[in-house]
Amino acid sequence: MELVIATRNNGKLREIKAMLKGTRIRVLSLDDFPGCPDVIEDGKTFRENALKKARAVAEYTGKTALADDSGLSVDALDGAPGVYSARFSGPGADDLKNNRKLLRMMKDVPDEKRGAEFVCVMALAGKGVKEKTVKGIVRGRIMREMRGPRGFGYDPLFYYSPKRMTFAEMGPEEKNRVSHRARALAKIKALFKTE
Ligand code: IMP
Repeated sequence: MELVIATRNNGKLREIKAMLKGTRIRVLSLDDFPGCPDVIEDGKTFRENALKKARAVAEYTGKTALADDSGLSVDALDGAPGVYSARFSGPGADDLKNNRKLLRMMKDVPDEKRGAEFVCVMALAGKGVKEKTVKGIVRGRIMREMRGPRGFGYDPLFYYSPKRMTFAEMGPEEKNRVSHRARALAKIKALFKTE
C-alpha cells in the first residue's frame, strides 16, 4: 500500500522512512505533491494538529496520509514548549534558537527537576480508512549544554538515561528503537497488520 507522510520536517521524514523500510508500505512524501498546501497548526493538542494535517493531505492527494505532531514537554515548565516546540523561540525560530531558549529557561532548575518527555501523536486518514490517532512517549532529562551532532530539534538537550547519551549522540537506528516516534509508529504498523 501507499502512504503519504504529511510533513515538511526532514528530520521526522527521515526517521519515519527508515522505520518503514522493509515493510510492504510504499512511502511517499510531500515532495511528491509539491502543490499540497501547508496546514496551519493552530490546534491546542498534538492530536488536533496531527488529525488536521492527516486529513488535509489525504484530501489533497487522494491517498492514505500519516501525520506526526510531536514535541517536547518539560516537567519544570508545566509541559512547555509542547505543541509550540517548533516555534518556541518565536518568529524565525530554528533548532538552535529553540535549544538556546530552553537552556536559558532551565538555567536555575536543579538536576532532580529536569525531567521531560518527547511526545508523538500520529494520525492516519484517507478515503476508506478508519481515522485513527496513536501516541508514543519517551522520558528523559534536559541537559545543561547541547551534546551530540545527530538528530534534529531538541535531540542535543534530551538525555536518555538507559543509553547514557543524548538523542543527538545516539545513532539513527538506536534512536529509532526507543523514540516517541518509534513507539507511535509501532502502533500504526500493528493497525496495518490487523486490518
Ligand atoms: P511539529 O512539526 O509541529 O510537530 O513540531 C515538532 C517539533 O518538536 C520539532 O520541530 C522539534 O522541535 C520537536 N521534536 C519533535 N520530535 C523530535 C525529536 O525526535 N527530536 C527532537 N525534537 C523533536
